[in-house]
Amino acid sequence: MPLPVSPEILVVLGTRPEAIKLFPLIQLLQDHPRLRPVVVSTGQHKELVEYVLETAGCEITADLGVGRPGLGLNQLTAAVVSGLDDFVTGRYGPPPNHISGRVTRDHYPAACVVHGDTSSASAAAVAAFHLRIPVAHVEAGLRTGTTLSPFPEELNRQLIGRIASFHAAPTRANVQNLVREGVDIGRTFVTGNTGIDALQWSAARQVPYDRPELEWLEDDTTSRVVTVTAHRRENWGEGIADIARAVRRLTETHPDVRFVVPVHPNPAVAQTVRAELDDVPAVTLTSPMEYRPFARLLARSTLVLTDSGGIQEEAPAFGVPVLVARSTTERSEGVEAGTLELVGTDRDRIVAAATRVLDDPEARAAFSRQPNPYGDGHAADRIVAALEHLVFNTPVPRTSGPGFVRSEVLEWAGFHRTDAVDGPTFERESVTTGHEPADLEGVVIQPLTADGPPDTDGGA
Ligand code: UDP
Repeated sequence: MPLPVSPEILVVLGTRPEAIKLFPLIQLLQDHPRLRPVVVSTGQHKELVEYVLETAGCEITADLGVGRPGLGLNQLTAAVVSGLDDFVTGRYGPPPNHISGRVTRDHYPAACVVHGDTSSASAAAVAAFHLRIPVAHVEAGLRTGTTLSPFPEELNRQLIGRIASFHAAPTRANVQNLVREGVDIGRTFVTGNTGIDALQWSAARQVPYDRPELEWLEDDTTSRVVTVTAHRRENWGEGIADIARAVRRLTETHPDVRFVVPVHPNPAVAQTVRAELDDVPAVTLTSPMEYRPFARLLARSTLVLTDSGGIQEEAPAFGVPVLVARSTTERSEGVEAGTLELVGTDRDRIVAAATRVLDDPEARAAFSRQPNPYGDGHAADRIVAALEHLVFNTPVPRTSGPGFVRSEVLEWAGFHRTDAVDGPTFERESVTTGHEPADLEGVVIQPLTADGPPDTDGGA
């Protein structure tokens, strides 16, 4: 029997990284036969978000217009909370107040997805809580352990961690962080990072590198390519110079290898790199690349030498060995799995490690023997399977890690269980939300159909 309406999943995002890491989920929800995404952009990085989502074929349902430059954190938070409240009450009417409705049978969002650690994500989580919409947190459980660093992201993560009913954690270590803070393990799910899904999708598009100095790479499918990036503050000066000197040395010992170095725009970095490598024919210096060609370059590489954080998670997704030009890394799971090797910035040490990887196929293969702990490109599939299970009680998705329990998530979200003849159902508990019934005069509410989603995406 068809359900009366297709439950909608709010997806709230505001910044470019959020758009990148959420588009794989939005794509799957757009194609889903029974769930529908309602994408709300806060308007912070308006054009960048629109560009990312448009290239991924994702539609934005509403823009809250919170894009004024120079907006303080409190103003931003207030604007997102009230903007989302207006949007939700305008589209769906007031929150269920003294009325109960089954998870699948009331026209009210089944969940509100927020991502990561921005202030707009934590504001959206608070607003969703007040509106009695269960919050699903994507990229949950990252912690530095120092509430003020990074500011305000670390506290935003913790706040969302308190509010969320369902936590999609990239790794097992992220779940452990949540459990240490008192989150029931049954409300967590190890999914991998959706950023890896986005990266693989982007690399597969094979968009042109689109700059003259990389034209040779369009046609060259045989040369081995080493990609090098360096920009961390602790490496400024001698560290970056040593990384560049190591590259120069490797061009002498490995004349068949080409090196591509997207140079960070910071003058402290760029001057050092250019001074060491400008005149080396096997080295292509280029400015920072757009995300999709950079994903393609990573996938094309034989080896990556980097001090970047994100790239330590990304390159192993293509089975590419990563030498980390730092003395420590917060990506310890990658070092333990063997997808990363810490080499510091000492020139000779970098040269020795790179030589081993370039010359010894067995050493190269060792890097890709273990799965990338940060994701296999199917994080969004797992999250959608989890949402489906929560909303429709479909079979429990295959777990990655300890798994989660539907009733725990729903009960935390304020649904209570009743056992009906056709099996258990979960209904919203009656709680006074304090919302006056909204004045809906002039507001267009999407018509509900008895047999599936409406044709258009109405909405505000
Ligand atoms: N990146 C990019 N173009 C580049 C270099 C990096 O799109 O030329 C991407 C990279 O894939 C990663 C993100 O930028 O997802 C951040 O990497 P970065 O090295 O700037 O910094 P970190 O992760 O250390 O903050």
